[in-house]
Amino acid sequence: MEKVKNIAVLTSGGDAPGMNAAIRAVVRACSYYEVECFGVYKGYEGLIHNEMEKLNARSVRNIINKGGTFLKSARSNDFRTEEGRKKAHDNLIKNSIDALIVIGGDGSFTGALKLSEEFNFPVVGIPGTIDNDINGTDYTIGYDTALNTVVEAIDKIRDTASSHNRLFLIEVMGRDAGDIALNAGIGAGAEEILIPEEDMGIDRLIESLRKSKKTGKTSSIIVVAEGDKSGKNIFELGEYVEENLEDYEVRVSVLGHIQRGGAPSCYDRVLASKLGVGAVETLLEGKSQVMIGIVHKQVTIVPLTTALGKRTHKHDRLIKVADITSV
Ligand code: ATP
Repeated sequence: MEKVKNIAVLTSGGDAPGMNAAIRAVVRACSYYEVECFGVYKGYEGLIHNEMEKLNARSVRNIINKGGTFLKSARSNDFRTEEGRKKAHDNLIKNSIDALIVIGGDGSFTGALKLSEEFNFPVVGIPGTIDNDINGTDYTIGYDTALNTVVEAIDKIRDTASSHNRLFLIEVMGRDAGDIALNAGIGAGAEEILIPEEDMGIDRLIESLRKSKKTGKTSSIIVVAEGDKSGKNIFELGEYVEENLEDYEVRVSVLGHIQRGGAPSCYDRVLASKLGVGAVETLLEGKSQVMIGIVHKQVTIVPLTTALGKRTHKHDRLIKVADITSV
């Protein structure tokens, strides 16, 4: 691989707090190592339509503390086609760009890997998604902030739940990963937590709530991940619980997009800074088709194929802690 002189960076898929801090770190590492940096707007869609511009260290001032991504993010159906990826590659070549950094989730990494394999083009991925659902990294950028947002929201809902003897079902993000539900649920003192990785069964849930009621609980919080295994959506689940559980008024709250917003936590800012610098250094070392992650507090480089593999992460201990602390 020839020495990298011009690097492009884009954000793709769902936005996550800390993406700006990651872009900033990439741009400033490029400046530090004296390579040019191009910011691509609107993810792969912008790459296909040649929407990019040169960035310098000053272009990224005052963004480390901002949520979202100033480069904008997008979902691009055209990039899923070979033709779309060819257009994207043509634009990279037209702008003399010789390596690409993609900040996003597993879909974005799949696209990056295809582009790299089809055109022998160097790519590095940075995990940026609130879901924490990427293999090979302990944390993804945005996850810590989202957790804090969810805990704060549940704390507020608890105030109203306990004033009315209500049972609240609170839906949080997580189609495939229960990380947000489990950790925010424990942090906010939820009575029950439903996650995609584990099927507790609705009847067991009702039984457990009935038992809690007998021990003197007057209100309850149940945290439900979007992809939970109950087979019912959150409103159907709410109706079922109300029909089968005497003495409780059931309310449903879907936290939705507030979970993506807000200023990134200090943890996410530092993580994004480490991974952004690591991504540039990795490209300058001649590596490609890898993700920069964090494992046991150390920045690590893993093949994108590993990052896209099934997560080996186990929730067993956290599930037990949740059970024990909610008796
Ligand atoms: P999040 O986890 O926040 O949803 P993500 O990166 O997984 O982020 P996706 O919408 O799955 O989000 O993917 C982002 C973009 O990556 C897609 O809009 C598409 O352009 C590209 N992409 C996803 N899957 C593929 C694929 N199989 N082939 C080519 N490109 C893909």
